[in-house]
Amino acid sequence: MNALDRALTHPLTRNVTPERRPFDLAAYEAGGGYGGLHTAIGKLTPAECLQIVKDSNLRGRGGAGFPTGLKWSFVPMEDGGPGHKYLICNADEMEPGTFKDRLLLECDPHQLIEGMILAAYTIGADVAYVFIRAEYLLAERLLREAIRDCYGKGYLGRNILGSGYNLDMHVHSSAGRYICGEETALISSLEGKRANPRAKPPFPQVSGLWGRPTIVNNVETLCNVPHIIERGAQWFNDLGLTEDAGTKMYGVSGRVKNPGCWELPIGTPIREILEGCAGGMEDGYAFRGLLPGGGSTDFLVAEHLDLAMDYGTIGKAGSRMGTGTMIVLDDRTCPVAFVQNLVAFFARESCGFCTPCREGLPWSAQLLAELEAGRGQAGDLDTLAMHVDFIGTPGNTHCALAPGAMEPLASGLKYFREDFQRHIDGRACPYCEREAAA
Ligand code: NAD
Repeated sequence: MNALDRALTHPLTRNVTPERRPFDLAAYEAGGGYGGLHTAIGKLTPAECLQIVKDSNLRGRGGAGFPTGLKWSFVPMEDGGPGHKYLICNADEMEPGTFKDRLLLECDPHQLIEGMILAAYTIGADVAYVFIRAEYLLAERLLREAIRDCYGKGYLGRNILGSGYNLDMHVHSSAGRYICGEETALISSLEGKRANPRAKPPFPQVSGLWGRPTIVNNVETLCNVPHIIERGAQWFNDLGLTEDAGTKMYGVSGRVKNPGCWELPIGTPIREILEGCAGGMEDGYAFRGLLPGGGSTDFLVAEHLDLAMDYGTIGKAGSRMGTGTMIVLDDRTCPVAFVQNLVAFFARESCGFCTPCREGLPWSAQLLAELEAGRGQAGDLDTLAMHVDFIGTPGNTHCALAPGAMEPLASGLKYFREDFQRHIDGRACPYCEREAAA
């Protein structure tokens, strides 16, 4: 595939080389980078840019899939009152099993910056932040260098491309909590406060950072914007295989031959990603299930493998596409231990603000640990199901963290119930016993 074909079909990863050499400003521009900026700034009005993004049907790639153009349209354009408007890039990638944004940040930081400038221009923001995961040290360094180079080139700062538009961009390193990825907790953290989520509404689009209109978008979402502005909404729609538009960064981890991350047309069947890209299961391991979009999604099993990986299809199958990065469960890994590990992670990461999350998640994690250790009792599975019902119902908790934590547990009890039961009946973990005997 030549460079132009690749740019048209794999826009996000067109600059990702096998050795993952980061593209600096000169290399990015040599490949047509900042074409979207030259197309739009001072030439298209913000309203025209908004219409293109709306028509593109781009949906948020952080996990929730909210329509990006619609989200931007909630920002008051006419009379925002005195003060700033903000764009925040959520680069606090901490969803378990999720590593797609890291690839984009480390290989092509200018793609993100160009997307952010275009997004900020569209919503009328004059200040932009990249809120980046604390451990992403290489990405942070590359971003800071890239931002510095953009100021030098007149892509950031005052009077960008002579258009009269001003934008400042800053990088903020997270203090390292999963909950900071929730947009209102992120905003609290950026304001220097404890990272507790805030009640919505009001949504950040009208009252966000320092009470001002703010858009929070994921890295992958923003990286799509330059291509959409430059090539148009129809081109983007045509990339998708199903009713969703564009490409998607998919990933696979677990006992597969070739774990990794690939950009594919959105709607690619799960089997194609799992077997075609990830090479299928490692020798000696059989497939039992997968979490399609990070740790806070419901299991899918063998009967779902031919489904399209898009928001609607995976939703109808009882799960969520989430971040699109799958975690595979094999036949030699204990599903109880697998779920316990995830619930314990979410319990540790709870901000502690609401009781069901602060108390319910550690309770569930402890009960699962007892089960896994062979100390479960009759009735434990009903107790877990009761927790799932209460904690997992949106509205019973302050934010989506605890309902998300209940998703692998709820679906684990549905698809792998006999494994849970065997821990109680046999008073031991059958997987540990098998490993010990081998
Ligand atoms: P959400 O559905 O509440 O919101 C998604 C976005 O849409 C937000 O920006 C929100 O402001 C906007 N929105 C939703 N309803 C709106 C309305 N009525 N009016 C205006 N705007 C509206 O979801 P969320 O809690 O922000 O995110 C949950 C998702 O994040 C889950 O899918 C989870 O898997 C994912 N997640 C991802 C990571 C990661 O590392 N990428 C980490 C944690 C969670």
